[in-house]
Amino acid sequence: AFSTSARQVRGPAGEPLGAALAYQEITDLMRAMKVKDEFVSSVSHELRTPLTSVLGYLEILRDRGDLPDDVRSQLRVIQRNAHRLQMLLSDLLQVGQAAELGNALQLEEVDVSSLLREAADAVAPGAEGLGIELVVDVPSRLVISADPQRIRQVLDNLLSNAVKYTPDGGTVTATLREEDDTLVIEVVDTGIGIAPDEVGQVFDRFFRGRQALDEQIPGTGLGLDIVSAIVSAHGGEITVASEVGEGSTFRVTLPCDAEPS
Ligand code: ADP
Repeated sequence: AFSTSARQVRGPAGEPLGAALAYQEITDLMRAMKVKDEFVSSVSHELRTPLTSVLGYLEILRDRGDLPDDVRSQLRVIQRNAHRLQMLLSDLLQVGQAAELGNALQLEEVDVSSLLREAADAVAPGAEGLGIELVVDVPSRLVISADPQRIRQVLDNLLSNAVKYTPDGGTVTATLREEDDTLVIEVVDTGIGIAPDEVGQVFDRFFRGRQALDEQIPGTGLGLDIVSAIVSAHGGEITVASEVGEGSTFRVTLPCDAEPS
C-alpha cells in the first residue's frame, strides 16, 4: 500500500512553480499497526479474567458485616478503580475489534429504526433517573445493508455520551431519516457542549475533554474512536457541531447500499 502527499513548489520570490507529489510505501507501517492492534486486543482479553476474580472477591469482602469503617472506605476505592479498569479493558477490546473491521463486517438487511428504538430504550432508565427527556423520532422502518451489532454499538455510544454530557433536566433527541440514498442519524443534546479548540479532537483515541476531566465525568476517551472506525468501515461519515453550554449534534451518514470499505 502507498500513502500520497502533495506540496506546492515555489520559486525564490515565492511564485508558484508547480506541485511535488510524494508516494511512500506504507505496507510495513500497516503491518506494524495491525500487530499493535492485535497485541492490545489480546492483552485486554487476558487481563479481563483476573480482574473479574478481583471484583468477585471485593464483592464478597464488602458484604461482610464485621469490617471497620476505614477498611470499608478503602475497599470502596479499590472497587471503584477496579471498575474503571474493567471499563477501560472492555473499550480497548472494542477498539481492537473495530480496527480490524474492514472485511469483518457481518452485513445483513437491518432495520435501523428498530435498532435506534432499542438503543434508546437501553439508555431510557438512566436518562429518566437524571430527569433528562429522551425524544426518539424515527420512521416506522428504514432498512439498509449493515452490520447490526456494530451499528448498535455506534448508537449506544452516541446516546450514552449525550446523556452523560447533559446536565439534569436537559433533552436528548435521536432522529433518523433518508436523504438522497443516504441514511442520516442525528443525536442532539442540550448538554455541556465541546470547546472550539477541542471539537477537532473528540474522535481521537483516548481524547477526553477538559470539562469531562475537571468534572470527573467517567469515561475512557475510546467511545468515539470506536464509533468512527465502525462508521467508516460502513463507508459512512460522522461529524459533530457543538456550542459550549448549548449542546452538541452528532451526525452519522451511512450509504443506503453500504459496501464494506
Ligand atoms: P469518553 O466519553 O469516554 O470520554 P468519547 O470518545 O466517547 O470518550 O468522547 C471523547 C470526548 O468527547 C469526551 O471526553 C468529551 O469531552 C467529548 N464528548 C463526547 N460526546 C460529547 C457530548 N455529547 N457532549 C459533550 N462532549 C462530548
